[in-house]
Amino acid sequence: ALSIGIVGLPNVGKSTLFNALTKAQNAQAANYPFCTIEPNKATVSVPDKRLEALAELVNPQKIIHATVDFIDIAGLVKGASKGEGLGNQFLANIRECAAILHVVRCFEDENITHVDGSVNPLRDAETIETELIIADIQTVTRKIERLAKQVKADKEAGKSLEECKRLADFLNEGNKASQFDIPEHNEHFKQVWHELSLLTAKKMIYCANVDEEGLEEESAHVKALKEAAQKQGCEAVVVCANLEAELQGLSAEEQAEMLSSYGISESSLVNVVRTGYRTLGLCSYFTAGPQEVRAWTFKQGWKAPQCAGVIHTDFEKGFIRAEVISYADYVKFKSEAACRSAGVLRVEGKEYAVQDGDVMHFLFNV
Ligand code: GDP
Repeated sequence: ALSIGIVGLPNVGKSTLFNALTKAQNAQAANYPFCTIEPNKATVSVPDKRLEALAELVNPQKIIHATVDFIDIAGLVKGASKGEGLGNQFLANIRECAAILHVVRCFEDENITHVDGSVNPLRDAETIETELIIADIQTVTRKIERLAKQVKADKEAGKSLEECKRLADFLNEGNKASQFDIPEHNEHFKQVWHELSLLTAKKMIYCANVDEEGLEEESAHVKALKEAAQKQGCEAVVVCANLEAELQGLSAEEQAEMLSSYGISESSLVNVVRTGYRTLGLCSYFTAGPQEVRAWTFKQGWKAPQCAGVIHTDFEKGFIRAEVISYADYVKFKSEAACRSAGVLRVEGKEYAVQDGDVMHFLFNV
């Protein structure tokens, strides 16, 4: 499954945030018997108002949201890329994630030591990113050595060798791999690039960890981080990890009470989860029946059979066709039967690219 790795300097609130996500997972666990529980992973549901609206119409026994996985990758510090301490293991853990949630300390608290002495989100973000870039340089350098040997036997490898050298220079100038422009007509290098699976090529979300007051008013720290995020074309979310860790243990009423005492209406964790889902490039289609109304996760561009395979591999193998109602039509006509009579239920075949929000009914051979 696609997951999001949580990274950041020590004492910025990673564990606190992960703890909040774990509490959310445990509170939802009854609804997700299919999710395996692992100590460093939190599988949390993605709130989706469309799902609630469908449930209102269908009145099912169960509502099942899509989920997103967060992985706790503790302990990335200066020097990690040089293999000090457990560094390399941590880098390997990040490599397995599809995206990175980079927690940056924006709260002031003199009782909590900052590893570099003061609160400075941009400097902190750079410290972490430098480590990731150094790790990538090492990866590319190893590749260059291997390609140099291959060139003698395989001329094609030469095309990648040149690109890898250019990439190494680019990284050495302090750039992230995500900003590297991959030559369009070099298939060999595209394959190499894929194999490299560079850390700084991954999608990143900045997570500004603020104090309770910071949720109401944007500090200069948060503004600076948001600007940096925008320049890099990534998102920034604001969260108060301490408050979330407290909130997640409470009942819905208690949560509402606590939130309103801080003058806010919604838990900021929801925003983290939604942004994560979107950043992974994930979409949802729905199934709606009396037993359950459920969101299923797919990647943009997937065709109907592949989407059916998310439910069960048999659905993909035996795929015949799909009946599709767009979300907008479903809520407009209020039932599958009404959509059918109104002529808005479409029959789609193997080539149909499923759209986010489609209400699907698959027909298949067993
Ligand atoms: P990690 O090393 O990044 O995992 O950081 P922790 O989650 O262990 O947090 C370090 C310390 O900062 C803990 O004592 C937290 O309670 C505290 N902390 C985390 N978030 C906040 C916050 O929003 N405000 C304040 N004042 N303290 C926080």
